[in-house]
Amino acid sequence: MNYEFRVNDLAKEFGVHRNTIRNWIKNGSVQAEPGPGRQYIMLWKDYQALCEKFGRKPRPNPNQGYNPTELQKISTETPPPLVLDSRTKTLYDNPQWADVCLTCGTCASACPIAGVDGLDPRKIVRMAFLGLEDELLASEWPWKCTMCAKCEEACPMDVEIVQLMRRIRSRRDRDKVPGPVHKGVVTCLERGNNLGIPKDDFLYLLEELGEELAEESCPGFVTPIDKHGARLLVTVNSKEPFAEPDDMKWWWKIFHAAEESWTISSVNWEGVNWGLFSGDDAAMKTIVGRIVDNMRRLNCSALLLPE
Ligand code: SF4
Ligand code: SF4
Repeated sequence: MNYEFRVNDLAKEFGVHRNTIRNWIKNGSVQAEPGPGRQYIMLWKDYQALCEKFGRKPRPNPNQGYNPTELQKISTETPPPLVLDSRTKTLYDNPQWADVCLTCGTCASACPIAGVDGLDPRKIVRMAFLGLEDELLASEWPWKCTMCAKCEEACPMDVEIVQLMRRIRSRRDRDKVPGPVHKGVVTCLERGNNLGIPKDDFLYLLEELGEELAEESCPGFVTPIDKHGARLLVTVNSKEPFAEPDDMKWWWKIFHAAEESWTISSVNWEGVNWGLFSGDDAAMKTIVGRIVDNMRRLNCSALLLPE
């Protein structure tokens, strides 16, 4: 038994763009063959499976194949509201945004890494909309995304793609977060910086570098640690004291030449918040809160973040 349909009608029925239906036919997601006129024909059981995937009740079974009168009647009916899988919409706050995605692909054209291992922000949005959350949580795509937000800027429908990426990341079990990102978050919460550099070592390094700078090119320079009332609080990427300490001196030279009033905190000085990248909102908030505490404690009015 077959189900015959027009692309436009099926698109309207499932709340997707007509190009999506064409793509599904092209890539085999919908197994349909061209039929009479501008119709397509698919097996009735495939239509039922599609309805099931979208959580929709199938239309009445025509039972006798192509029937122009019935099709005409159906195509002018207002389709019933789209009911999706219960998991659907848990990945985004605003129930509107994914529904309004045009599948136009503008996001993919703006994405600097579209195509890397098949990444395509448009596909991620559609997967979220269709309730394919398990597949998204298992996917490496959200972890390859740089969260640069170029897709979002380009999207004509203001779909919040970056928020979606972060939310998918946040749902993954922490021990399955790729690379050292989660470990860095835990270390930062426990020891005040992503690489766990001890406080004494950090302070010793700051003083040493300050002395070197005074000898080399900035006479009288002393590294301003915990200077109350400084205008600018400077945070540090722990990679610098760990691996490239001399890089910090370039900033300091500029501050010295500009006669800037600045300081570095002796505690919780990390400026790179990996909670942002791992999708760990609670950790991100704690780390931001510590910087705010330092601003208040030292009475600073401006903040420099290294990234
Ligand atoms: S640019 Fe926006 S509307 Fe177009 S496919 Fe991407 S998310 Fe959907
Ligand atoms: S935020 Fe991610 S998906 Fe969007 S353009 Fe940047 S890398 Fe691509």
